[in-house]
Amino acid sequence: MQRVKKIAIIGLGLIGSSIAHAARRGHLAAEIAGHDVSADVLARARVLGFCDSLHADAAAAVRDAEVVILCTPVGAYKAVAQEIAPHLKSGAILSDVGSVKSAVIRDVGPSVPAGVHFIPAHPIAGTEFSGPEAGFASLFDGRWTILTPVRGSDVGAVERLKQFWMALGSQVDVMNADHHDLVLAITSHLPHLIAYNIVGTAHDLEKVTEREVIKYSASGFRDFTRIAASDPTMWRDVFLNNRDAVLEVLGRFNEDLSQLQRAVRNGDGKTLFDWFARTRAIRRAIVDTGQDVPSFGRLPFQVYIPPGKKKRGAKKRKKGGARKAKKKAPARKTVRKTGARRRAK
Ligand code: NAP
Repeated sequence: MQRVKKIAIIGLGLIGSSIAHAARRGHLAAEIAGHDVSADVLARARVLGFCDSLHADAAAAVRDAEVVILCTPVGAYKAVAQEIAPHLKSGAILSDVGSVKSAVIRDVGPSVPAGVHFIPAHPIAGTEFSGPEAGFASLFDGRWTILTPVRGSDVGAVERLKQFWMALGSQVDVMNADHHDLVLAITSHLPHLIAYNIVGTAHDLEKVTEREVIKYSASGFRDFTRIAASDPTMWRDVFLNNRDAVLEVLGRFNEDLSQLQRAVRNGDGKTLFDWFARTRAIRRAIVDTGQDVPSFGRLPFQVYIPPGKKKRGAKKRKKGGARKAKKKAPARKTVRKTGARRRAK
C-alpha cells in the first residue's frame, strides 16, 4: 500500500494497538493517531509508544486522516460514528474491525458523510487478552481479514483497504455482511458461547469445586477456559449484534448434540467413532493450512512448518534445535507461542 499521511485508530485495545504496531512496522503512515475513551488507556498507550499522537478527543484524532479504523467494542460504534462523522476528511476510508458486520453497517452507515468511503472489515485474528499491552505487530500475519463492502462502495477504495490489510500482514477476502455473520457464527461465536457455557456449568457443579476445576484442567477443559477468558464486553456485544445467525447455528448445534447424546445412550460406537474421525480430519486440515499449530501452543514454543516447506537450518541443528530455532525464527507466521502471541478468534 502507498504510504499515507495519517491513520486514525479509535479504541486502543488489543486490536487497535496491534494495527498501530503493524502499521508502524510496515511504514504505512507518516502519523498514526490514536483515541480512546479511557484516560487510563491513553496514558498506557503513551508509555507503550505505538502511536505518534494521542487524543482525548475523537474528532481531533480523525481530522485529516486518510484511513480511520474503529476498534472499540461494537456496541460503541454508533455513538463514535456520530461523533467523528462531521470531522472526516473527504475521500477518507472509514473502516472497522468488529466481529459482526450487518449490525455495524446498520449502526455506522447512516452517519457516514457523502465523499467518505465506508468499508467494514473484520480481521480473524485475536487472543483472549485485551488492552493496549496485549497488542503486537505480528497479530495479523498470515491470518484472514474479511472486507464486507456496502452497496455502492468505491472499487478503488476497497482495493486500497485490501492493500492496507495485506501490508499489515493479512490475507484478504471479500464477502457480503450477512454471509460473514453466518460463517463467523459457526466458526467463532458459537464456540465462544459453548466455552462460556461449559466453564460456567463446571463452576456451578456442586461436586466440582473451583480448586478441582483448576487442578484438573490439563485436559480439553483447559482449552475452553482459555476461550471463556475472552473480554466480556466485546462478546456481550457480539451476541447482542449477531442474534439471528447465532440462533440459527445454535439450533443446528443442538440437533447434532442430540444425535451424539443418542449415540452415547445407545452405546452406538460406530456413530461416535465416525463422527470423531471426521472432526479429527477437520482439525488436521486447519493445521495443514497454517491456521494453527499441532499442539494448540501447549508446548512453550514451537516452530510449525507448513507441509511442503523446508525447515530453515534444519541440517545444522542438533539436540537443542528447538531453542535455536526460536532465536532464528524466520517469520512470525511460523512461530507460535503460548500466552499473548496465541491467535484465537
Ligand atoms: P479491547 O482490548 O477491550 O479494546 C477496546 C478499546 O476500546 C478499550 O481500550 C476501550 O476502553 C475502548 N473503548 C470503548 N468504548 C470506546 C469509545 N466509545 N470510544 C473510544 N474507545 C472506546 O478490545 P479488542 O479485543 O481490541 O476488540 C476491539 C474490537 O475488535 C471489537 O469490535 C471486536 O469485535 C473486534 N475484534 C476483536 C478480536 C479479539 O480477538 N479480541 C478479534 C477480531 C475483532 P475501555 O477498556 O476503557 O472500555
